[in-house]
Amino acid sequence: MLGAMSIDLVDLVYRFRKEEKEQHQRIEGVYWVTDLTRCPLKRTYEFKYPELTAKDVFSPVFIMGDLAHRGVESLIKEFFLDAASVEVEGSREVSLPNGRKVIVRGRADAIIDLGDNSKVGVEVKTARADLGIPQQHHIDQVRIYNWLFSLSYSILFYVTPDRVTQFEVRDSVDEEEIIERITSTTYPRYPWECSYCPFSVLCPHKKAHDDRHR
Ligand code: SF4
Repeated sequence: MLGAMSIDLVDLVYRFRKEEKEQHQRIEGVYWVTDLTRCPLKRTYEFKYPELTAKDVFSPVFIMGDLAHRGVESLIKEFFLDAASVEVEGSREVSLPNGRKVIVRGRADAIIDLGDNSKVGVEVKTARADLGIPQQHHIDQVRIYNWLFSLSYSILFYVTPDRVTQFEVRDSVDEEEIIERITSTTYPRYPWECSYCPFSVLCPHKKAHDDRHR
């Protein structure tokens, strides 16, 4: 019997997100897959100005995304049982042209083992609208997962207020593309990024963009 004990679900959610963030601190020489599918400067700024992203823990949009991920991952586990693994982390070492070795690390939402050496990745995405899906940076993200986890293909699973749908992505990056992405100096990587970037308050490379059709 819980009696008069007070239940604070808001605090529970924030504590969960804070712990998640603390477990995934930036490490020099480690590139997360998400670093390779966004403006390369953001990684540099995250080392230098971590305070500018600290409040993401309290973002309702991100919290909704987290909860949708958890829900879909639970369903996958329930249906595919031992054939499915969720929140799967993987790493691969890559040598850069200057001889420096770095680690590419990623976390797939789910990987389903179909047997016969065939594994399928699942990446869950939430969005405010279904315009323009599948988005290029999401396709690029699962192309990198296909390489990182040696997947047969990946499913991009979208949950939006207008549409719940999925896309299969069979293409994969190669090591050459990974190196190009790590060493890229194209700021931003996608034209719409600056409009949503926490570092736009200080970044000299900020570009204006009409993102009405994003
Ligand atoms: S403002 Fe634009 S160019 Fe600058 S870090 Fe952000 S996304 Fe990159």
